[in-house]
Parts: sequence; structure tokens; C-alpha cells
Amino acid sequence: MELLQDLRSRLGRLEQQHLCRTRRIVAGACGPVMTVQGADGPRSMLTFCSNDYLGLAAEPAVVAALAQGAQRLGAGSGASPLISGHNLAHHRLEERFAALQAPHIPACRALFFGTGYLANIATLASLADRETEIFSEELNHASLIDGIRLAAAQRRIYPHADLAALEAMLRASSARRKMIVTDAVFSMDGELAPLPQLLGLARQHGAWLMVDDAHGFGLLGDRGRGSLAHFSLRSEHLVYVGTLGKALGVAGAFVAAHETVIEWLVQCARPYIFSTAPPPALAPALECALDIVAGAQGDALRAVLGERIARLRAGLKLDPWRLLASNTPIQPIVIGDNARTMALAAALWDQGLWIAGIRPPSVPEGTSRLRVTLSAAHTSEQVDRLVGALNALAAVESGEGKQ
Ligand SMILES: *Cc1c(COP(=O)(O)O)cnc(C)c1O
Repeated sequence: MELLQDLRSRLGRLEQQHLCRTRRIVAGACGPVMTVQGADGPRSMLTFCSNDYLGLAAEPAVVAALAQGAQRLGAGSGASPLISGHNLAHHRLEERFAALQAPHIPACRALFFGTGYLANIATLASLADRETEIFSEELNHASLIDGIRLAAAQRRIYPHADLAALEAMLRASSARRKMIVTDAVFSMDGELAPLPQLLGLARQHGAWLMVDDAHGFGLLGDRGRGSLAHFSLRSEHLVYVGTLGKALGVAGAFVAAHETVIEWLVQCARPYIFSTAPPPALAPALECALDIVAGAQGDALRAVLGERIARLRAGLKLDPWRLLASNTPIQPIVIGDNARTMALAAALWDQGLWIAGIRPPSVPEGTSRLRVTLSAAHTSEQVDRLVGALNALAAVESGEGKQ
């Protein structure tokens, strides 16, 4: 079939399955209240779908550091890191990330990337060679899955949090090298992976453990150092990825690992080598965000966030839906059906509440959900407004169910 015709019919099928996505156009900054550009003009929306968990995206000190950084360092880096794009500002930032994870990874070094997606595909594609077998958690983020697809390694997918199944797979493997790959906080579920047990299995079977802490770095562990700190883990065989567009409120990511692993990435990771280095001005903005996250203000923000999470969970009365067990700012409400999920998201939208409806392939078939995310920037009253709206919709739903 001719390509355009084929694409049109495939788009039509997505539409029928309620799987078509639309982009909302945000005018202005990220925050609890966002201005969204609609057909009939701008609209103010109370937003529960950003990953700006600590409200740092609009934090004046971070914004000023970005602006001053751009004044001093320019808009762009001009080249890939191995040519002339690696700035002293990037370098100092990498040393800070390495110091943060050094208690958990001996001889720790860190490498800065423009995005977490890039960091994950770069790391997996260059570390997991033909002699490696990868053991990938079923609910892993798409960037890990794509990195594994790029890698020459063998791959097995283990069922979500199923340590016994993983152990059987590790035992059955005759690969020379093994690598377990997991999200630390599952991005659509909000719950933590059993990292201590995974590291135990890795030790027993001579495997490496790669941890994607996109939703843990900045939030978990002392001073927000992330999931390795949260669980007090330490091993030479850990590869840690922290992302910087979520709790840190800016953009970018870093890989922290043994210095030899990082040197290998510098030499061989194609997404690192063949891509322009991120704007150096990101570095002072990230240093400022790190200062906040690692200091008393960070502790205060995490405490506020914890209070908002507890308030939401205590207030919701959602029968017949299911609020997943989660202590993180990711608070998903599983609805099941795609069309129903999107209808509920639309009903909330009509009330001025912006909550993302999440459908396959982001989540398994039949588990479509409203993914509520909270931020320390939300007020108690804003959380209460969401609780009231969700409880009212659930009451209607259970009323309908009983008829
Ligand atoms: C968001 C996310 C990423 C990608 O990070 P970006 O910096 O947004 O590219 C990777 N892994 C997980 C689990 C994520 O949620």
C-alpha cells in the first residue's frame, strides 16, 4: 500500500481503539497551575501530571542560575563532548554526581547526558555485548527497552517483581556476562523495585545490576541521593542512571558507575559521542537544583510532598477503581478500559483538572489508568479539590454499576 494511505488507515485504527494521543499546548511555565492553549483561547488548569515533584522547574534560584549560566556560557555547546563540547561546567557537575553516588559504587565516576532516554540507550547498547545476557523487568521504561533492543545481547524479560522467576532465569543462563536491568521506581505504578533482593541475586549469579532512578533521584534516600542511598546498597557491579528533568526540575541525566565503565562509555557509547553536548548553561542550573535538593530546603520540600501524598491517599474513596499501593508522588488509579479512562480524564479536564490518562503501550493491556502525580508545589487545598472531584466521579461510577 502507498505509505500515506497506509498511515491513514493505521491512524484510523488507533482512533477506533481510543489510542490516539493529542498534545496539549502549554503557554508559560510548568507548575501546579498551567495555562493551556485551547481552540477557544487560553485556559488555566490545575495540573496533576507533571514530574516536577519538588516544584523546582519554576524555582526562581534555578531559573536565575540558568539565565546567568547562559549569559556566561552561551546558548549552545557547539560540538559533541569528544570534539569541543565538554565544558568545565559539565565536568564539575559530573564530579558532583559521582560524589553523591560514591558511597554506593566503588571508584565511582559519572557521565552527563542531555536526556535520560539517551543515557539509557547509550549505556545498554555499549555495555551489553554479544556475550551478555540481559534480564529485564517486565515494567521497565521504554528507554530501557529500546536500549536493550539496540544492544547485541541476549535478552529475557522477567515478570514484574518476580524474584523466583528471575532467579530461575539467572540459574539457567550460561552467558559469560549477565546484567539485570530495572526501574527503581516504576514510572506508571509508583512502587519501588526490590533492589536489595535484586542486588543479592546479582551477587549470587555474578551479574551486574543497572538501576534507572528517574523517579527516585532527588526524592529518595538521605538528601535525595536516590534509591541506592535509600536501600544503603553498595557494589562495584552497579550501574546507576539518575535523570534531571523530574525532581531536579531541569533536564538531562547522568550515569554513575565504576570509572572503567564510564571510560568505556566515553570511548564507545555512540549516543554520547555522536550528539552535541547539552547547553553548558544547564550545568549551573542543575548545580543550583542540587544545592536545594541536598540541603535543608530539599528536606522541607520532601516533607511537604510526603504530606500531600498522605492527604491524597487518605481522602480518596474510589471503589470500584483501584488506587495502587505507592508511597511516591506517582499515584495511579487503575480504571482498566481505555475508553473509560479517557472519558474520566476528559470529565476531570472539563472541571479544570489536568490528569493524564495512560493507555497501552505505556501500561499493560486492560490496566489503563489515571496517573496522578503530586508535587511539593501543590497546596493542600489543591489536593483536596482533586480528591473531591475524583470521589464524586467514583460515586457516580459505583451508582451506575449497581443499577
Ligand atoms: C522519564 C524517564 C526516563 C527518561 O528520562 P528523560 O530525561 O525524560 O529522557 C527514563 N526512565 C524512566 C523510568 C523515566 O520515567
